[in-house]
Amino acid sequence: MILISACLAGLNVRYNSTNCIDDRLQKLVLEKKAITVCPELMGGFSTPREPAEIVGGNGDDVLDGKATVIERSGRDVTELYMKGAYATLQKALEVGATQVVLKENSPSCGSAAIYNGEFNGTKIVGEGVTTALLRRNNIVVLSEEDI
Ligand code: SF4
Repeated sequence: MILISACLAGLNVRYNSTNCIDDRLQKLVLEKKAITVCPELMGGFSTPREPAEIVGGNGDDVLDGKATVIERSGRDVTELYMKGAYATLQKALEVGATQVVLKENSPSCGSAAIYNGEFNGTKIVGEGVTTALLRRNNIVVLSEEDI
């Protein structure tokens, strides 16, 4: 089974209630070869929500307590991002996911790039909180740009 970011499958779960549909990935879901996950909704957020970025590092640093996830207005939402990451890991283990394809650049789902924590649109090399946790548990995480 493959896990796919819900926004890549066309569900309007992004912070601004939009999606970033990838027809190839949506097809896998429609054919029941993949299931969708949205770590942020699984962490307790709803849609729409404020955008957030990792401040002080990347997803690995968040897991180690060395960085935080902050909303644009300043609220610390690290705990909710951690909750979503662990819920996604649990889902991956439950369904025996062999591959995971998550949306690039997201503070949860990014696998090669994330935003720099200054809300100025600049990306840096790094991974999101969920991606970091899945990788620590030996699950391969790709993005829509890798496939
Ligand atoms: Fe949800 Fe990840 Fe898509 Fe963000 S990038 S909306 S957390 S699935």
